[in-house]
Amino acid sequence: MSLLEVRSLSKSFGGVTALDEVSFSLSAGERLALIGPNGAGKSTCFNVLGGQLRPDSGEVLLEGRKVTGLPPRRIWRLGVGRSFQITATFGSLTLAENVQAALLSKAGRALDFFSRATRFGREEALALLERVGLAGQAARATRELAYGDLKRLELAIALANAPKLLLMDEPTAGMAPAERVALMELAGGLVAEEGVSILFTEHDMDVVFSTASRILVLNRGEIIAEGSGEEIRSNSLVKEVYLGGGRLDA
Ligand code: ADP
Ligand code: MG
Repeated sequence: MSLLEVRSLSKSFGGVTALDEVSFSLSAGERLALIGPNGAGKSTCFNVLGGQLRPDSGEVLLEGRKVTGLPPRRIWRLGVGRSFQITATFGSLTLAENVQAALLSKAGRALDFFSRATRFGREEALALLERVGLAGQAARATRELAYGDLKRLELAIALANAPKLLLMDEPTAGMAPAERVALMELAGGLVAEEGVSILFTEHDMDVVFSTASRILVLNRGEIIAEGSGEEIRSNSLVKEVYLGGGRLDA
């Protein structure tokens, strides 16, 4: 059984068809990239999968269970993590406290801001920070972090929920090219170790080709190609619509 099965998803905004009968599936452990030009419908797809948007038709199954229309929090609890595009950290808390807050939330408890000395999840939080290379900064206030480190913290927070599937909509937006590759290498390595699957979108083709185990190409709400990096690179339709005939690895 697929971890995720997307069946004929359609979504329009007024006269704009953002998703047009989109179907695909994702197996456990896959690193699937969803690429396509601006306005192709990628974020709409992520938002439907995460429960932020209701599709006009079609359904989403997670481990065979229909999740379409469930609120974001329920979908998150079922193991679909989201990360990066919306930064959800508390600036005044330390890095460790931010990860602890995520662990508390997963355990169904709210963070008690008045008992900053809480020990809940402390060890696990430090272990997660270690894994993303931030152990040395655990006691720093989050607002002092450099942008690239904030992204690493967000990855630790996403992993704190022990997701089965991690949705990453342009995770490296705003990062320098070298940092992008490093972040996605880190994310790719960690998800492989944990057996977590990822569905991500990304403008940087170097990152796409080095991270993805399979690629889907969306254009005007329709999937126009699917395959390995090699297959996508040599697909003439992709070259035409996606880059106006330019080189995909440019
Ligand atoms: P991508 O993430 O691939 O750039 P989006 O999913 O954001 O594409 O957008 C797909 C299309 O749907 C675009 O034409 C966009 O303008 C439109 N769209 C997305 N969200 C909304 C919205 N909330 N209201 C109206 N139109 C929207
Ligand atoms: Mg988008």
